[in-house]
Amino acid sequence: MPLENLYCLRCNQELEAGHKSVALYMFAQTVGVRPRQKSGARRICFCPQCSVSLAMGPAPEGALNVAAWQMIRDLVGAHPALTEAAWDDLSGVVDELPATGTEGILPPARTAGYFEF
Ligand SMILES: [Zn+2]
Repeated sequence: MPLENLYCLRCNQELEAGHKSVALYMFAQTVGVRPRQKSGARRICFCPQCSVSLAMGPAPEGALNVAAWQMIRDLVGAHPALTEAAWDDLSGVVDELPATGTEGILPPARTAGYFEF
C-alpha cells in the first residue's frame, strides 16, 4: 500500500513522514438517524510556518474555516513549540553552515526535532 503523500494545504509544501506539522482530522456522522452513518476520515495538514501564520492572521471566511482556525490558534497559543518549529525550519539553512574555528564559542548544534529548554 503506497504511503499517503501529504502536502501543506496552504503552501503545498510536501510534508514527509515525521515532518513537523499540524494535522486536522475531519469526519461526518449522522445523529439521530438510523442506521447511523459515518463518512471516511480526512486528514488535512499544515506546515508549522503556515499554522503560525494562519493563527496570527485574521479570521477566515466560512464557518468551517473559522472552526479550523480556532483550533490552530488554540495549539499555537497553548505552547511555543510550534512557533519554534516554524522558526527552526526557516533557520535550518543557517544552522547547516560549517562553524569553522568557532568550536567552544557556539553552543553545540541542536539535535533534529528536539528542543531543550
Ligand atoms: Zn505550509
